[in-house]
Amino acid sequence: MISIGKYFRIIFIALILLLFCFHQTALLQITSIEYICSGTDYETPVYIIKTDYKEPMIMIVAGTHGNEKAGIKAAEYLKDNLYIERGTLVIIPKANILACEENVRCFPPEINLNRVYPGNTQGNSVEKLAYEIFNLMKRYDIDLLVDLHESIEFYRKNPKNYGQTIVIDSDDDYLFELSSFLVEEMNKGIIKDGNKYQVLVDPIKGSTAYCAYYQLGIPALTFETCRKLPLSFRIEEQIRFVKIILSKWNMLTVQR
Ligand SMILES: [Zn+2]
Repeated sequence: MISIGKYFRIIFIALILLLFCFHQTALLQITSIEYICSGTDYETPVYIIKTDYKEPMIMIVAGTHGNEKAGIKAAEYLKDNLYIERGTLVIIPKANILACEENVRCFPPEINLNRVYPGNTQGNSVEKLAYEIFNLMKRYDIDLLVDLHESIEFYRKNPKNYGQTIVIDSDDDYLFELSSFLVEEMNKGIIKDGNKYQVLVDPIKGSTAYCAYYQLGIPALTFETCRKLPLSFRIEEQIRFVKIILSKWNMLTVQR
């Protein structure tokens, strides 16, 4: 027969083990929310996923263009379902929240958020929004910016559109090697040749990535899926792209 003292000792040990396991699984990361453009129509949430190891610091932006749904859906999925064991992730799923709500590229239609960086605190609402995102990149001192977009056509069919590309704003060795590696990894998961990705070096002045790179010295990538492909596939591709990046930086939790 187990004595009362022994019985309590067993319960005590079990509790300690349970607390230890809980700590290992539940406290690996903490997600907090802050808002940019607070108190205005452009107020939009920023999700910060932190671990005990601050570095690397990666920022993911989606919804710069409101009708490029795959990036937005992917960012929303990632902020709820991603488990990392090191580093910090800063995720903005709906950069231009009004454009996202209206399902339009830009809101207002005549101002493209992706052409007004670094923004202006005294400018129009979109310039103020750009400034707040610019400021966030600075404040978090990020190591990499990933901007998720979509295009209406394949780049290979019409080079005015960027569908199925990774766009970089400079052909510096680091960015070129990184994007080439990512294209290679992404293309391993693509069966049809016409849907494969390619690196495109195209400096787009005023874009989030251009500004991150040239004004803050932050390596930056713009990822573009093609909207001719099914939405569910594009969302998976956007998620896969981010996960490949996080794996390369050893941030992803393998077992959960
Ligand atoms: Zn776009």
